[in-house]
Parts: sequence; structure tokens; C-alpha cells
Amino acid sequence: MTLDNILEEIKKAQTIVILCHESPDGDAVASSLSVMHAVKQLGKDADVVIPKYSKVFNFLPGADKIKDKGRYESYDLAIAVDCSDLKRLVGEEEYFETAKKTIEIDHHSVNSMFADYNYVDPVAPACCQVLIAMFEYFGINIDKELGTCILAGIITDTGGFQWGGVTPETFEFAAELLRKGVNISKLCQQVLRNKTKAHCEFEKLIYERIEFYYNGKLAVAYLTLEDYQKISKDSGDDEGLVDMIRDIEGVEVAVLLKEKEGTGGFKASMRSKDQVNVSDIGLLLGGGGHHNAAGCFVPGTLEQSKNKIVSLIIQEMNKYSF
Ligand code: AMP
Ligand code: MN
Ligand code: MN
Repeated sequence: MTLDNILEEIKKAQTIVILCHESPDGDAVASSLSVMHAVKQLGKDADVVIPKYSKVFNFLPGADKIKDKGRYESYDLAIAVDCSDLKRLVGEEEYFETAKKTIEIDHHSVNSMFADYNYVDPVAPACCQVLIAMFEYFGINIDKELGTCILAGIITDTGGFQWGGVTPETFEFAAELLRKGVNISKLCQQVLRNKTKAHCEFEKLIYERIEFYYNGKLAVAYLTLEDYQKISKDSGDDEGLVDMIRDIEGVEVAVLLKEKEGTGGFKASMRSKDQVNVSDIGLLLGGGGHHNAAGCFVPGTLEQSKNKIVSLIIQEMNKYSF
């Protein structure tokens, strides 16, 4: 079984590198650190390589060990977490491509299964929740530090247990950690409620710019390179902004277009409240994600990108009855 193979590869490897998707969110960073803590218990000193991530996650146990480059040019084993496709390992793919063996642990339903061993649970609400079952199988002790990382990932991807996909196990695990002394409300504050001033500046811009389509059921806003120049280019300052668009009364689908330097286009972050499967839309443009949260790259000027994504979403929305 895959988990036996994964354990065997970890035990065999002399050098291990752990990687996650570009513009990493809390689930990506926390999954990486969780795997680092777990393999430590198996006697392995793995490198977590994340070239750019938000300083918001620096409180996570082990975050001080995160490297922007690997210690070795090539590793015996590369483990990718919270990443559905090799394309999304931007800046780290060389470590994956040159590793002797590769493992992917993930929860994205649209998944290219790009590793030698792929452990993917497409219904888990966070990659960190997938790790729980794996660690239990390996006999890893989920102590307060490891548990804090795992829970931080779950809190990020479930919006603090709000979004679909939360299971009884999610709460059972959270309850177990509460017993171990993890402060869940503090963790929620650190991961979700800790806005930078730049984030608030972005919010202001977005509120001014929201455009509604489809009888107010589709809402779109954007951030340009000029905005990033003026406000902040720090990774993380523009995280989670799309949620404020989805929260608006009557909105079923929300889109935030973020212009990406040197690409000639925009990254689209999409969210839906309920029925609309935005991952289907992401997939049409070579991206992906989950039913209610997905992303993709849309080439072109602002007008071109906006028109493209709006027309694709409207086509998709026509399939539903609201
Ligand atoms: P984001 O809008 O960047 O917060 O992403 C929402 C969800 O979609 C996350 O689970 C991402 O991992 C996933 N996602 C975003 N962009 C892509 C992409 N280009 N390809 C595949 N999945 C993506
Ligand atoms: Mn993620
Ligand atoms: Mn995730």
C-alpha cells in the first residue's frame, strides 16, 4: 500500500527535501513543517524549502528552519505537500525533478498524481488533515508542536471550521489538541484574523472596485502591478482578500484578479458560496483547486482577463438554477 511505500522511502533516504506550492498559504507552510517534525521522529533531518512565504506563519513551531534554498543540489527523496501539480512547485521544481524518489501528499481533487507515490485524499478539507491519518499509520506522536502545525493548516483551509469539507475527525482532532493545551482561539487569530495594514489598503481598493454581473450573483475585483507597487509586494498581504467579495449578500461566485509581474496576465482567485464548482472553471484555464475555492492564470490586459473569466463563469453559472 502507498503508505507502506512512503514509510519505506523515508526510512531509506539519507537526504529529504519538503516542498509546497507557490504563494504558499497556511496549509502549505504548516503541512511542510508538519512533515518535517514527523520525519524527525523517524530519525531524519529534512529540509523545508520555501523561497517566499508570508511572515504571518513565522510563529509556527519549526518555521525558523525554513530555507529559501536547499542544502544539496539533489536529494534522495522529495516530498511535495498541498500541491496538485508539478507546475505549481514554482522555484522548487528542480529539487523535485532531480530527486531519486518523489512523494506527493495532497487533498486537491483535480490532481496530476505527479510523484512516484501519491497519497491524495480529495475530500479532506486540508492537506494537514490528510497528514493526520498518515502520521497515525506511521505511529508518529502528535505532540503539541506538531499538533499546532497541523491545526494551523486545517484552520487556514476551513476558514476556522467554517467551510464545507469539515468532518467529525476534524473536530475530534481539534478536541484532542485542546486537551494537550493548544490554544485554538489564539491560533485562529494568528492564522486568520491578523491583518496587515497593507492588507487593509488592498481591502479599501477592492471595495471601491467591485463590479457585479449576473444579477449580483457574480462579483469581480482586481489588483494591478501599480497597486502592488504603491501598497505592498510582500507575500501574504493580499491573501484571503477574495473572501470579502464572496461574503457580500447575494453573491454566489467571487473573483479577485491579481496582476503578476513578468507574466503578462492575472492570477484569478475564485470562490463560490455553494453550488458552483469553481474548480471546473479553473481547470478550463489550466488551473484547479476545490469545489468552493480555486485558482488559475488568465493571460492578457485587465480588460481581456476580466472579460475572459467573466464569460467563462457566466457560461458555468448558466448550468445552475439559483
Ligand atoms: P487561491 O485562490 O490562490 O487561494 O487558491 C484557491 C485554491 O485553489 C487553493 O486550494 C489552491 O491550491 C488552488 N489553486 C490556485 N491556483 C491554482 C492553479 N493554478 N492550479 C491548481 N490549483 C490552484
Ligand atoms: Mn494551499
Ligand atoms: Mn490546502
